[in-house]
Amino acid sequence: MSPTDADAVIIGAGVIGASIGYELSRRGWRTLNVDALPAAGYGSTSSSSAIVRFSYSTYTGVAMAWEGMHYWADWAGHLGADDERGLARFVQNGMVLLKEPGGHHERCVPLFDQVGIPYEDWDAAELARQLPTFDTGSFGPPTTADNDAFWADAQRQLDGGIWTPDAGYVNDPQLAAHNLQRAAEACGARFRFSTSVTAIERRQGRVSGVQLSDGSVVDTRVVVNVAGPHSGAINALAGLAGSMRIGTRALRHEVHHVPAPANTTADRTTQVADGDTGIYLRPEVGGTLVVGSLDPACDTQQEWVEDPDNFNRAVTATGFERQVLRAARRLPDLAVPNRPLGLAALYDVADDWIPVYDRTDLHGFYVAIGTSGNQFKNAGVAGHCMAELIGAVEGGQDHDAEPVVVTGRYTGLPVDLGVFRRNRVVHADSSFSVHG
Ligand SMILES: Cc1cc2nc3c(=O)[nH]c(=O)nc-3n(C[C@H](O)[C@H](O)[C@H](O)COP(=O)(O)OP(=O)(O)OC[C@H]3O[C@@H](n4cnc5c(N)ncnc54)[C@H](O)[C@@H]3O)c2cc1C
Repeated sequence: MSPTDADAVIIGAGVIGASIGYELSRRGWRTLNVDALPAAGYGSTSSSSAIVRFSYSTYTGVAMAWEGMHYWADWAGHLGADDERGLARFVQNGMVLLKEPGGHHERCVPLFDQVGIPYEDWDAAELARQLPTFDTGSFGPPTTADNDAFWADAQRQLDGGIWTPDAGYVNDPQLAAHNLQRAAEACGARFRFSTSVTAIERRQGRVSGVQLSDGSVVDTRVVVNVAGPHSGAINALAGLAGSMRIGTRALRHEVHHVPAPANTTADRTTQVADGDTGIYLRPEVGGTLVVGSLDPACDTQQEWVEDPDNFNRAVTATGFERQVLRAARRLPDLAVPNRPLGLAALYDVADDWIPVYDRTDLHGFYVAIGTSGNQFKNAGVAGHCMAELIGAVEGGQDHDAEPVVVTGRYTGLPVDLGVFRRNRVVHADSSFSVHG
């Protein structure tokens, strides 16, 4: 057997690509992850806020996130291998989803009940008691700081909050991808870095190999596109541009860092999803707060990016002001720094903000794409699901006609992969945002 032969080539070694490499290799597949960047998790994974929450809009979305959390809670057990750099840590500090009339919690809470996710339903008084440093007034619907309404006093209090104690975040998303790489390698998987896939070869209607930037060709019968914001470009290489009903596009997003007000230690958590102002917050090591966007409708100027290798990676004063001033409404003691700090990165957004985990019309070519700024948390379970899907389809199952349903390793919950098919009708239930 030539050293370049592999049972599956996985394009990308982000947290999901590395997870798929691990899950296939632990099933006995000879896998090769190829990544254009120098190490695992250097793509959009490295910029992830890495929040693990359950507030999705569909049963399968909630069930998958709940199952996915258990991988992080059992990270060392899941990996079964050491990493000389140490293991990423799951900080299980809980999360509050703020309640406003017509808010996202109205969709999520019935799904939490169905799936069996523990939560506490706090009324306005309990919310104020649990988050004493927060202004729990209602400022919504979200607006921008150039609008007078932005500065208006709250007319009423928020309705309360939904507290999920099992939520949290992963302290080092890049390290998590590296951990998965090491776990995969312990099962015989191989990784090649600083190498791009430049062509997808096909023979008799199915994938037969990939061409690499060094001119070599790797023969394989299975290729998995896990290229994050480059997903559309890789599909085009495979001759699949426009072949799926659900498309993917790169969207630039900024995440900002501000010093947490010293008094926030009095709060039960600073991990908050705030649909009333349109932001999310989470603590960061070293007393910093991470401020991200929930893509409120008032932020009309979304920055779609044509070329994912060429976008502004610096945070802008405009973006910083937009998000951090919203955070300051919620946290009156927040000191807004003069200089914008944070990061800019790309989401790989699917038309309905729900990922595409599927086979394609080209036999042997699979996709785990369209992760829409919300699938870090599902890296473990997505790897398991993709490995089950690939195994089933390569074993003869017609997933288009008879969708593969995966049983959660930890929870036993069914994950119907039909929900993530490439040719689905756009999910009307989706929130079309990172809430989703
Ligand atoms: C700012 C931000 C905040 C986020 N916050 C959260 C959050 O709080 N919670 C959550 O669950 N999710 C979050 N996400 C989403 C999550 O981080 C992503 O869904 C996840 O990291 C995607 O992993 P991936 O492996 O699919 O892709 P990536 O990490 O993007 O990896 C893709 C890899 O493919 C490689 N590649 C591309 N083209 C080629 C080629 N031709 N040849 C070889 N390699 C190639 C790239 O170099 C890259 O390393 C966030 C994302 C961003 C950007």
